[in-house]
Amino acid sequence: RAKERGKNNYNVFHSGMNMQTYRSFSLQNDLRRAIEREEFELHYQPRVNIETGKVESAEALIRWNHPSWGLVPPLEFIPLAEETGQIVEIGDWVVKTVCEQINTWKQEGIPPIRIAINFSSQQFLQKDLADMIQRILESNDVHPELIEIEITESVVVENEENSTKTLQQLSDMGICISIDDFGTGYSSLHYLSRLPVNTLKIDKSFIQKISSDKKQHKLIITSIVSLAKALNMHVIAEGVETENQLDFLRNQECEEVQGYLFSKPIVPNMLEEILVQGDYKIDIFKNNNPKSP
Ligand code: C2E
Ligand code: MG
Ligand code: MG
Ligand code: MG
Repeated sequence: RAKERGKNNYNVFHSGMNMQTYRSFSLQNDLRRAIEREEFELHYQPRVNIETGKVESAEALIRWNHPSWGLVPPLEFIPLAEETGQIVEIGDWVVKTVCEQINTWKQEGIPPIRIAINFSSQQFLQKDLADMIQRILESNDVHPELIEIEITESVVVENEENSTKTLQQLSDMGICISIDDFGTGYSSLHYLSRLPVNTLKIDKSFIQKISSDKKQHKLIITSIVSLAKALNMHVIAEGVETENQLDFLRNQECEEVQGYLFSKPIVPNMLEEILVQGDYKIDIFKNNNPKSP
């Protein structure tokens, strides 16, 4: 029977699998060749300083243009890549592509901003991760302070020893470390005092509940902001979609915001346009912020 199956994949789909299983199977299989076929691209989502309205950094977010399935969201294929270990190669490609982009902007005389890169916990199993990143930075002539690494609490939980060492090396190089989706993980807060963390990113699930009647959600945000301040860390809110949310965050003295209210993740050329106009201010701040001109 196994032989029969091998001969005719199409029949396998019809007899045994449902559509979702077939899709995962197909995507996981195609992931192996997606880099060489140049099917990935990076989009960049601007982050805005809440006081000045200026774009000071951006987050790189991977996109996969699959030849037959179309645009596949990272929430679908990143977990598949994590299962197969493919995420290591994809992660290297992301770092390389970001550094090449920063270098291109530099050649073109575009004012530099820091770019944040997402990392999965498997990438921290590579013993030489910090060296690898250093080599990519050097070969593209990129200053380490232009790079930020976003990890989730799971990185710390899943391989504490290795990740602690690597994060320390990266931090010593001058790279910023931030905790993504902060407040949704299962770890204790103990790691915050041991790791070289620069920034907490408040998870968008808390931001989206700002307008709800329950006071708790707002109190959690207030607490995260004061925790960050007490530990001398920066704080960013992700998933900001409304002016109401922005006003609340401004009153909390949250420093930076990121979300559809300002911009979706955009292609490099569009970010470039924003960066070229050095005094670019997002409209919404023009009326609201007494400090802007
Ligand atoms: P994340 O790092 O927490 O990224 C934020 C996600 O929220 C992005 O989804 C972004 O497009 C989305 N987002 C931004 N603003 C808003 C908003 O105002 N409202 C809502 N509803 N969503 C908003 P995206 O691009 O689909 O990425 C999903 C996740 O995939 C990321 O979550 C990250 O965990 C992972 N990911 C993306 N790129 C990479 C990568 O290069 N490497 C790794 N390892 N993971 C990645
Ligand atoms: Mg992120
Ligand atoms: Mg996040
Ligand atoms: Mg995430």
